[in-house]
Amino acid sequence: MRDALWGSIMHERSLVQTLLNQVQQIVADDGGGVVKEIQMQVGDLSGVEPLLFESAFTELAREWFSKECRLVLEIVPVKAECRLCGQCFEVQKFEFLCPACGTGPVEVIQGDQVKLMSITVDSENTVTGAKL
Ligand SMILES: [Zn+2]
Repeated sequence: MRDALWGSIMHERSLVQTLLNQVQQIVADDGGGVVKEIQMQVGDLSGVEPLLFESAFTELAREWFSKECRLVLEIVPVKAECRLCGQCFEVQKFEFLCPACGTGPVEVIQGDQVKLMSITVDSENTVTGAKL
């Protein structure tokens, strides 16, 4: 249990590092500035634990950017589509079964991604981000 938790924290830390790297690159390409806010979408199925992600972010963003840098996380619900009947549905409690036909293989169409949505820098410029 201890090991699993530690492993998870390491995972979030490396994700945050990847994110900050990308943010730094985007902001530098855009002319630089102090990063004020980072908005992200985190899928329910992405394996990212929002609380751990936020705490890793708070710690790392202070070193990389500024103390005022905020993180806004939007949690995206998991959606899937049935390959047999085409039914689109929201996946509850990891129940990957088509509610219409109950048999078809399903494909996750939303909720398995971590996505950088926007970056706000001090000049009030908003840079639109890319998929991580
Ligand atoms: Zn179906």
